[in-house]
Amino acid sequence: MTAQQWPVHSMDRPRPPVVDPGPERPPVPPPSDAIVLFDGKDLSQWRSQDSTPAKWLVRDGYAEVAVGTGPIITRREFGSMQLHIEWATPTPPKGEGQERGNSGVFLMTHYEIQVLDSYRNETYADGQAGAVYGQTPPLVNASRPPGQWQTYDILFHRPRFASDGTVRDSARVTVLHNGVLVQDNTVITGWTVHAARARYQPHPDRLPLFLQDHGNPTRYRDIWVREVKE
Ligand code: MG
Repeated sequence: MTAQQWPVHSMDRPRPPVVDPGPERPPVPPPSDAIVLFDGKDLSQWRSQDSTPAKWLVRDGYAEVAVGTGPIITRREFGSMQLHIEWATPTPPKGEGQERGNSGVFLMTHYEIQVLDSYRNETYADGQAGAVYGQTPPLVNASRPPGQWQTYDILFHRPRFASDGTVRDSARVTVLHNGVLVQDNTVITGWTVHAARARYQPHPDRLPLFLQDHGNPTRYRDIWVREVKE
């Protein structure tokens, strides 16, 4: 079956094979032309949804979801980009399935690469870590155990819309999870939605990056972007 034939969030859809990505590693300095969005010190590059300062907790070099305060959103806007971001889900793990360490990296505000504790945690394939949420499961499950730092390296090409609002080019995304390829130039089929088939709505050429508060105290560190010239 091709991707589009599986019902959204189908529990029958095969789970990707598990790959051990090796032990967690300390972060390395970003490249010289990177736009650093979080260096472990403060969230000055981020805001809340109502434009007030970001309320997530910053300590010991990471930012942790302050549950109930909502997402954090970059003050800058981006189109196509290379993104590096590190995350760790709570340990000991709490909850099951989508309730365990859920967060998400929303490219251009609307396209979620799922963040979830997918280490020995059963959920639907298109909702596990490294999935284009609700659309495309990761090629493999390269998750580390909860509490350990994990990396995403993402290459995202923004969608393009014709002047009448129809899609000229779909967005595409390549994702390395802990250095392992999990999305290979995957076509994004529309805005991230829950339990529904995605579709596009036109939007500007640049939009903020958005990190999700899904009710779990997941942590982030070492976030930087390199813009991809168009
Ligand atoms: Mg999520």
